[in-house]
Amino acid sequence: MIVADKVNKIYPNLCHALKDVSATVKRGEVVVIIGPSGSGKSTFLRTLNQLEVITSGQIQIDGMNMYAKSTNINELRANVGMVFQSFNLFPHKTVKGNVMLAPQKVRGRTKAEIEPEAEKLLKRVGLADKMNVYPSQLSGGQQQRVAIARALAMRPDVMLFDEPTSALDPEMVGEVLDVMKDLAAEGMTMVVVTHEMGFAREVADRVLFMEEGELLVSDSPENIFDSPKHPRLAQFLSKIL
Ligand code: ADP
Ligand code: MG
Repeated sequence: MIVADKVNKIYPNLCHALKDVSATVKRGEVVVIIGPSGSGKSTFLRTLNQLEVITSGQIQIDGMNMYAKSTNINELRANVGMVFQSFNLFPHKTVKGNVMLAPQKVRGRTKAEIEPEAEKLLKRVGLADKMNVYPSQLSGGQQQRVAIARALAMRPDVMLFDEPTSALDPEMVGEVLDVMKDLAAEGMTMVVVTHEMGFAREVADRVLFMEEGELLVSDSPENIFDSPKHPRLAQFLSKIL
């Protein structure tokens, strides 16, 4: 589903944020990325839907080379849903309006066609009773669940999550992780940057550990958490667990 090959990202300020990162994500797989702050986790996610252009290397999504001339980047991007730490909902649209916007604008689908689908998605994330309220009337956990429904409305093949629970009050973390667990159980291909190690252990098929722009370890959650062999990984885990 995703093949990243020797990806390098050097920002204009010469910060070398990704160093020869090679990784694959299979269809239906849940891959969790862990690592210290500044290790390149967000940069890597952002290269996967071309929010960042890479400096060298290759990225393939669904068999399409991201940087080939023949690739329609808007189409490719529409197939990759992204959920951020900050929910970025449109404040002047209702919850349902937020979920319906992109499929109409980007996919060119009609309101009549989208509306039942938006309602179904909002039920799925447990917000059936909030469809017609505005984002400011929701808790952080509820807003993040709207953001997930909004990303799903594009019918993406892959969902990327960048610390989706980091901005939430502790009591709201669980409800967002539960929605993500359901999504994983339904077979969605997911790449998740998170500090929620319980989620990583329970839900991930594979965990990637990044440090200083390098992908140092790619292994099963059991090996990562129960017998971390790489000294940098062991050191990182000893600090956070
Ligand atoms: P993480 O998500 O693991 O905390 P990031 O991908 O955000 O790490 O950052 C990786 C490195 O790239 C850091 O050194 C950060 O300062 C740098 N960086 C991130 N975004 C930019 C940017 N837009 N311009 C310059 N440097 C950046
Ligand atoms: Mg980050």
